[in-house]
Amino acid sequence: MYKLIIFLLILCVNIKTNAKEPKLVVGIVVDQMRYDYVDRFWNNFSNNGFKKLVNNGYFLKNTHFSYLPTYTGPGHASIFTGTTPSNHGIIANNWYDKNLKQSVYCAGNGEMHTICNCSQEVEDVVSSDGKMSPHHMLTTTIGDEIQLFNPSSKVIGVSLKDRGAILSAGHSADAAYWMDKHGDWISSSFYMNKLPDWLIEHQNKNSAAQYLVGKWKYKNSFSHNLDSLLMTNGGGIIKSTPLGNTILSDLALEILKNEKLGQSKTTDFLSISFSSTDYIGHQYGPHSDEIVDTYIKLDIEIAKILDYIEQEIGFDNVVIFLTADHGVVSEPHKLQELNIPSGYYSSLEMKDELADSSKR
Ligand SMILES: [Zn+2]
Repeated sequence: MYKLIIFLLILCVNIKTNAKEPKLVVGIVVDQMRYDYVDRFWNNFSNNGFKKLVNNGYFLKNTHFSYLPTYTGPGHASIFTGTTPSNHGIIANNWYDKNLKQSVYCAGNGEMHTICNCSQEVEDVVSSDGKMSPHHMLTTTIGDEIQLFNPSSKVIGVSLKDRGAILSAGHSADAAYWMDKHGDWISSSFYMNKLPDWLIEHQNKNSAAQYLVGKWKYKNSFSHNLDSLLMTNGGGIIKSTPLGNTILSDLALEILKNEKLGQSKTTDFLSISFSSTDYIGHQYGPHSDEIVDTYIKLDIEIAKILDYIEQEIGFDNVVIFLTADHGVVSEPHKLQELNIPSGYYSSLEMKDELADSSKR
C-alpha cells in the first residue's frame, strides 16, 4: 500500500511558457483520502470536481511517504513545508517532550487565546480549542516562502481541524480558521485579536445547526437523522457528516471573496483541508457506503471551488493542487470477509495475558 498519497495539479499555461507569477495558489488536502478512491469512485464523480483536476492537470500517481507516522499533523507539515518530520519537527500529532517533561500537541500553544465570536474569557475557560500556533514547526511552508518573497501577499489556512489549518498556513500567515467543538469558526490570538466582521456575519447566517437538517442517506443503504444528531451532540457533530465539508467549502468561498484573494498583483495563498473524510472514515470505515456518499458530496464541493476560481480569477492565473495527508487501512472485518488475514488488537486482553503470565 505505497500509493496512498495523490498529488494533482492544474498549472496555468503561463507558468510553463512565460514564468508569470500566479495570482493565487490553492492547496487542497483531503484528510484520509486513499489513492485508490480516485479510481473506486471515478464513476460517481461529476465532470467538474476531481475529474476536472485529473483531466486538465497533472496526475502524479507513483508518490511515496518517506516517514512515519502518517498522521494528520506530520502529513500537513510535510505537504506544505516540502520536507520530512526530522526536519520540520512535527513528528506526530502528540509527542513527549523530554525537556518540558510533558506531552505536547503538534499545534498546541498554551500562551495563546481563543479568538471567537464570543466572550474571550468564557471561551478560554470552556475550551482550549483556540490555544494554538505553529510554533512546534521548525521550517517554512509554501505560504511563508510566498510572504518572504513579497510581504504584501495574503496567506490563509482553513480546516475543520486546527492542525489542518495552522500547519498548512505556516508561521507568517495572515489568518488560520478552524472549527471548535461547538461547531463555530474560531482562530488564535497568534493571528489576530478579533475575527473579521465578514466572518462573524457569515457565521451568524450559516451556523452548523442550519446545515444539520433532515436526513443523511444514501440509496437504501443508511439513513442518519441529522436533527437528532444535532440535538444529542451539538453543532460540532457536523464534522462527522459530509456537511462538515460543505460548511468548510462555503467558508473557503467567503474567504476568497472577502479577502479578495487572487485579485492583486502579488501571489496569494489559500490552504483548504477537508477533514470530514477522516472523521467519517474512522467512524464507518473506508469500505462503507457513508464514505462513498461523502466523496460524491465532496466532489460537488471541489467543483464549487473550481467554478468560483475559474469564473472570478481564471485558471491561467492560478495554481491548484490536491493531495492527501495519509490513507487508512481497510476495516479488519471487511478483510476477514474476504479471508484476508486480519483482526482487532485488544490492549486490555494483552494486559490480562501479561498479568496471567506473571502469576505463573
Ligand atoms: Zn489526517
